[in-house]
Amino acid sequence: MTAPSFGNTAPLVPPLYQSSVYVLPDLDAIDAVYGGQSPGFIYARDAHPNALTLADQLAKLEGARWAMLGGSGMSVITATVLASVQQGDRLLVSNRLYGRTTAFLTTEMGRLGVAANVVDANDLTQVREALVRRPKLFVVETISNPLLRVPDVPQLVMLCHEHGCQVLVDNTFATPALYRPLKDGADFVMESLTKIITGHSDVTLGVVGGMGEQNQRLSQIVSIWGLMSSPFDCWLAARGLETFELRINAACHNAAVLADWLGDQPGVKRVVYPGRADHPDHGIARRLLGGRYGHVLCFELAGGRDAVNRFMRLAKGIPFSPSLGHSGTTCSHPGTTSHRFAQPEERARQGITDGLIRLSVGIEPVEELKQNLRAGLA
Ligand SMILES: *Cc1c(COP(=O)(O)O)cnc(C)c1O
Repeated sequence: MTAPSFGNTAPLVPPLYQSSVYVLPDLDAIDAVYGGQSPGFIYARDAHPNALTLADQLAKLEGARWAMLGGSGMSVITATVLASVQQGDRLLVSNRLYGRTTAFLTTEMGRLGVAANVVDANDLTQVREALVRRPKLFVVETISNPLLRVPDVPQLVMLCHEHGCQVLVDNTFATPALYRPLKDGADFVMESLTKIITGHSDVTLGVVGGMGEQNQRLSQIVSIWGLMSSPFDCWLAARGLETFELRINAACHNAAVLADWLGDQPGVKRVVYPGRADHPDHGIARRLLGGRYGHVLCFELAGGRDAVNRFMRLAKGIPFSPSLGHSGTTCSHPGTTSHRFAQPEERARQGITDGLIRLSVGIEPVEELKQNLRAGLA
């Protein structure tokens, strides 16, 4: 099949190239593409146009020299770690990471002969002590789940670099709208595009970006380990990206309003939001995040699990849906979802109680959100 002719016209919306393989005229052409002398594509697991154009847009957003897509947030974390360590090396791991990230870095990489030390990223003394063991890569999140702890990323990067350790920042909760880790020297930034950047809960995708030369090796690893993105998901993500700034602005604004409002509601024991003066990391969050504090907040109901069940049944406008970043507000329950398999002592250490609800705040009019919450709190 040949491409249709558009004459003097062109599609306004970028086309979806849903093709797993490309056609080449002869051997000289394939040599030129493999050799990098000529642009072009050969096999979609290696590269495809929808990933390439999306990666360019995301690199700009992150202030990165390069960005690379993967089939999920986990896939780009996997690729970055595999590109950074050898058997016998050591990882440094924040103790408040996304559950699957912790499992990958400790259990899975441990199985392959890569050791891990777990540290509290908000305790620089602990980090300094662990760096003596010469880890190759430190993995940390800008805003942690669910209690939204914000470590001093610039300080951590400086410390790590003094010890020859690279830093991968998972920036999913902050997004590049609030913070760009690369400008503070992080070696890699990653985002789960499954969340608010694409914003419509119809995509599973991840991006990693950086300033150095690691993209060649990463690109090989993505292809060899089969971690690539799908054209359709990249196409949807590019569409979501068009409204990202509008959505993150509205969602952060709504979250800040609700964080104040919820604090005054009967039955609410505490509110967790880095924008509140009572959050333990409010100071560092204010310095780091440009005056906004994200679209996620938590609140604790005095009545524990029973109160949470009642809230979920009554708050019809706020679906219980254990992810985040949807255009509409959703709620989740860290104790039975993200931290379901954590030991009870670990949940207690982090302050994840039975009454704790996490809200991923969307872009609805804030009065509508208050009404929906009020229904659940009744
Ligand atoms: C969702 C998430 C991930 C994993 O991303 P997937 O796209 O689900 O693979 C990693 N880190 C954080 C902070 C997340 O919220």
